[in-house]
Amino acid sequence: MGQEARLQSAITKFLRSKDRFVNKTQGGNPGTDTGTPDIITIDLGGRLLGLEIKRPDGHGVVSPEQKAIGKQIIRNGGRWEVIDSFEKFEEAWQDVTTLI
Ligand SMILES: [Mg+2]
Repeated sequence: MGQEARLQSAITKFLRSKDRFVNKTQGGNPGTDTGTPDIITIDLGGRLLGLEIKRPDGHGVVSPEQKAIGKQIIRNGGRWEVIDSFEKFEEAWQDVTTLI
């Protein structure tokens, strides 16, 4: 399992331990829009959080399609974050849980 996949699993596992809808998407699968966040999660209030996971070595690149989908999510009142470490996820999670 690559570093990005490991990070994605750790975050998914964390989110599944909370009272949320969690969907780990399959990028590149036929039928999945290009740029769809790696993880889509919704809290009990209906607030959506899209997470684009990147490898922790800093060499991950956010594609134009991923940015475009991120903008659409934000425009529609959701949150969208690019995450390249568990620490970064914890910061984003802190924001998510304190801004409610
Ligand atoms: Mg990714």
